Amino acid sequence: MGMVFFVLGLVFGSFINVLIWRIPRRESIVFPGSHCPDCGKTLSARELIPVVSYLIQKGKCIHCGRRISWQYPAVELITAVGFAFYQWREPSWAALVSKLILFSLLIVAAAIDLRHKRLPNVITIPGMVLGMILAFAGWSVPIGSSLLGLMVSGGLLMAIALLTKGMGMGDVKLAALIGAFIGPWPALASIFIASLAGAVVGSIYLLITKQGRKTPIPFGPFLAFGALIGSEIFL
Ligand SMILES: [Zn+2]
Repeated sequence: MGMVFFVLGLVFGSFINVLIWRIPRRESIVFPGSHCPDCGKTLSARELIPVVSYLIQKGKCIHCGRRISWQYPAVELITAVGFAFYQWREPSWAALVSKLILFSLLIVAAAIDLRHKRLPNVITIPGMVLGMILAFAGWSVPIGSSLLGLMVSGGLLMAIALLTKGMGMGDVKLAALIGAFIGPWPALASIFIASLAGAVVGSIYLLITKQGRKTPIPFGPFLAFGALIGSEIFL
């Protein structure tokens, strides 16, 4: 079963790549089919096999030779590992589905924030609603926990955003989304882990690149990372 979910994750990961590319560009996520962003050639089934195509084509488009970002196979692999992990970890189908939805939302949000330094409302707002619906349906945390999580987690980042200039409204909404999925305590733990990771990675990054302390570093990927850990340790 783990292997089945790994393969399922690879396939779903290539769909996540489509979302990551198209959502910030406001393109339709259904039409047209996957194509090379450089030469526009529509990709054939053979070129769409996750990870394998990338390796066979040595990371290049077979039509125009343009380099394909390593981000594609990376996202596919991460999604596959996540799917296999949650299948192994979650006892019920309901819990599994709600974890996979949260996991997928976090990957899309983190990757877009990393690239474009923003967290689109198209992901965070429906994500928050979905988190509450899943709780209401009894698939994740109790509904009271979900609502409290949303308010506590979003409220804390809202306060930080108002007091400092480093946090954006996108981060506030992503934190609220996480709270709606996993409840208040795991969400607070996630924010704590995210801040710690952000401080460490941020300082190293600024040291290596010799940039000033004013350089904006997106917080979304750290929040996503924090939530992945926080939701496993404290649930
Ligand atoms: Zn091409």
